Amino acid sequence: MTTGVTINLRADGGLEPREHPLLPPRPGGALLAIERANVCGSDVHLWRGGHPTLHDCVLGHEFVGRVVDTGGERLYDAWGERLTEGDRLVCSYFRVCGSCAMCRIGRTNLCEVAYASWGRSSLEQPHFRGAFASHYHLHPEQFTVKVPEELPSSLAALANCALAQGLAVVDRIRADVLPGPCLVIGAGALGLSVVAGAPKETSWDVYDRIAGRCANAGLFPNARALDSLPPAGGTLDGNYDVVVVAAGTPEAFETALEQVRPGGQIVMMGIINTRDTDVVSIRPGVLTRKGVTVSSAIRYGVPQLAAAVDLLRGDTPLRRLPLAEFPLDAVTAALAAAERCESGRVSLVPNGELR
Ligand SMILES: [Zn+2]
Ligand SMILES: [Zn+2]
Repeated sequence: MTTGVTINLRADGGLEPREHPLLPPRPGGALLAIERANVCGSDVHLWRGGHPTLHDCVLGHEFVGRVVDTGGERLYDAWGERLTEGDRLVCSYFRVCGSCAMCRIGRTNLCEVAYASWGRSSLEQPHFRGAFASHYHLHPEQFTVKVPEELPSSLAALANCALAQGLAVVDRIRADVLPGPCLVIGAGALGLSVVAGAPKETSWDVYDRIAGRCANAGLFPNARALDSLPPAGGTLDGNYDVVVVAAGTPEAFETALEQVRPGGQIVMMGIINTRDTDVVSIRPGVLTRKGVTVSSAIRYGVPQLAAAVDLLRGDTPLRRLPLAEFPLDAVTAALAAAERCESGRVSLVPNGELR
């Protein structure tokens, strides 16, 4: 029987390769070969112990896969395009069951079983459920979009999760505040994806507490990199109509509350940890008195994933983000590079071509 390799995150933070048999896909699913898996900020958080219960799992959820086995079934993407062996696809890293209470009211991004296949030990069948691996078992409840021939995997890998998530943020912003001025806190792929997906006539300031990380914002004609934030004025003042929190530190919410103008909107996407230490103190009365809307964007839908692939086909500055590439067995070096924020993107390339 043919085998593949997973890279397993152990409780002590070590990364251990394991070999497993490649099982046939379940009906409606597929076995994929991982062409490219990007290191997302949340992978770095998990590697550094940022999850209370995950102690044996395969990281990686931002990837492009190539279909190697459909189990003899016909496979279609979210638009009804047929997928056959050899086709490349991007897919949601989460499941949408279609039948839980949230799915039934159309809030599929909050599907109650979204993470049922995620963060599992590779010792459980079908073994391949994280993208830091040679292969991946696509579950029938994950939605997919076929990657067009002309779009290289090095770019397509950004569609899920960063760019689709950024587009979901843009969709959340109220039309009456979107003209801005707008601020995004966090200059990683998530933050820059918001800028890339926002209407061209909006202008964005990009701030990151890590000096030098903002440089990539210079690639975007509608963005300006800030070394420091402008003084916010009094408690009830502010500078921006829209503040997007795309940084992973809880303090970024405090900053957003200072920087948002009365009547403006804060959109949360970057902070996902809920540990007892992930706490900041705010004055809730400031939210009330400023009349600020706080929204959040967790996961996304088919339209955002499809729009992400379309956007990457065009002449987006995201195509020029610096890219660092590593083979699968250099996963520790890749995670460390992502943590140092040296590049716009860090990719593991288990099977595909290096750019
Ligand atoms: Zn991600
Ligand atoms: Zn559901």
